[in-house]
Amino acid sequence: MNKGKLFVISGPSGAGKSTVITRLLKQLSNVYFSISATTREPRRGERDGVDYHFIGKEEFEKLIKDDQLLEYAEFVGNYYGTPAIPVDEKLNAGYDVILDIETKGAEQVMSKRPDAISIFIFPGSFEILEQRLRLRGTDSEEKILGRLAQAKIECQKAEMYDYIIINDRFETACDEVTSIITAEKCKTAGRLHLLSE
Ligand code: 5GP
Repeated sequence: MNKGKLFVISGPSGAGKSTVITRLLKQLSNVYFSISATTREPRRGERDGVDYHFIGKEEFEKLIKDDQLLEYAEFVGNYYGTPAIPVDEKLNAGYDVILDIETKGAEQVMSKRPDAISIFIFPGSFEILEQRLRLRGTDSEEKILGRLAQAKIECQKAEMYDYIIINDRFETACDEVTSIITAEKCKTAGRLHLLSE
């Protein structure tokens, strides 16, 4: 059986990454979303073990020490990281795996897994981004300003990604991401064996 493909999706927080990912998980089969560990507090409606594994700082630092994370980063005062074992289990079982991670973590994944396919999602403009962060109504003013400052830094890293999606129209953005995943799965290297079987 072919191994699955690893997709890294980044973009400023508020770019609409999670909404796009939720949609494509419904549209595509055999795709697994990697559930990150984080030390940030759950937002209203978020569920432990579904949206994130919400853990304490000490527990997170133990994961780092025990080399259990494929990557991790500190983002606006909290740790975020990708547990390595579930990602490899799913890839080996033939599932495609999607990581929704910020740019420092994405750099680590790209250097450890050069075959990973990377997609950067931008909201269309910084004004739209600010509106979305404020509408979400979950972060303090300080956190919103921190996320906006971080967004500018992250956009400077967009050039290291394989693909850029402008999410000013949700449907188009979803179609584009779905097309990228579909096209990557049709690549000759992963299909040639089917002709000789
Ligand atoms: P939020 O707090 O809005 O859920 O996420 C903040 C940022 O952390 C987002 O850009 C998100 O992509 C990123 N993030 C979520 N999980 C991980 C992870 O496991 N590793 C890294 N490096 N970033 C993550």
